[in-house]
Amino acid sequence: MILNRVLPFAKELLEKVVESGGVAIDATVGNGYDTQFLAELVGINGIVYGFDIQEEAIEATRKRLRENGLEDNVRLFQESHAHVKEYVDSSYHGLVQAAVFNLGYLPGSDKSVITKPDSTLTAIEGLLEILMPGGLIVLVVYYGHEGGQIEKDTLMEYLQGMDQSKAHVLQYQFLNQKNNPPFVIAIEKK
Ligand code: SAH
Repeated sequence: MILNRVLPFAKELLEKVVESGGVAIDATVGNGYDTQFLAELVGINGIVYGFDIQEEAIEATRKRLRENGLEDNVRLFQESHAHVKEYVDSSYHGLVQAAVFNLGYLPGSDKSVITKPDSTLTAIEGLLEILMPGGLIVLVVYYGHEGGQIEKDTLMEYLQGMDQSKAHVLQYQFLNQKNNPPFVIAIEKK
């Protein structure tokens, strides 16, 4: 297939902006795949901040990083991404190159712990303040689960209303796939 699937597309976007020595954020670490990916992109001179409200996710991610020798340049917080701005060192405000979200629940875990519209929007607002101009927020939106549709609707309404002088907002989605396949939202700060 010539068209990129959703996850490779999201990664390609992150690769475009996250540089060696840079600062990046995983807003929903889950099993830590994206945290690892970002840590590899920023390298030993960069820094990654990772957030998740579940201890299980933080532990799984810590283990993955340790096994790959990447724990030194990642700071993990068992905390809501709604507080992202308070946790990222103020010296990095305005320098953050990218942030990634995987919305929904942690696969293989408690399906009742899901990302929620209010905290997701608060996190996006905070991130827009601390991103560098040209920085990206990439969201992989899973919405097939209970509670997913309302989060998707709230998010889409907010994004459609976002001032175009502040950011470019893109949706990347296959239109003819069954069973609510995930799609990508990319927000590029101007
Ligand atoms: N649905 C995706 C994975 C989503 S993981 C997939 O199938 O691959 C979403 C993660 O977000 C979970 O680990 C969950 O604990 C976390 N999460 C939920 N609310 C959060 C919040 N407010 N702040 C940070 N992480 C949160």
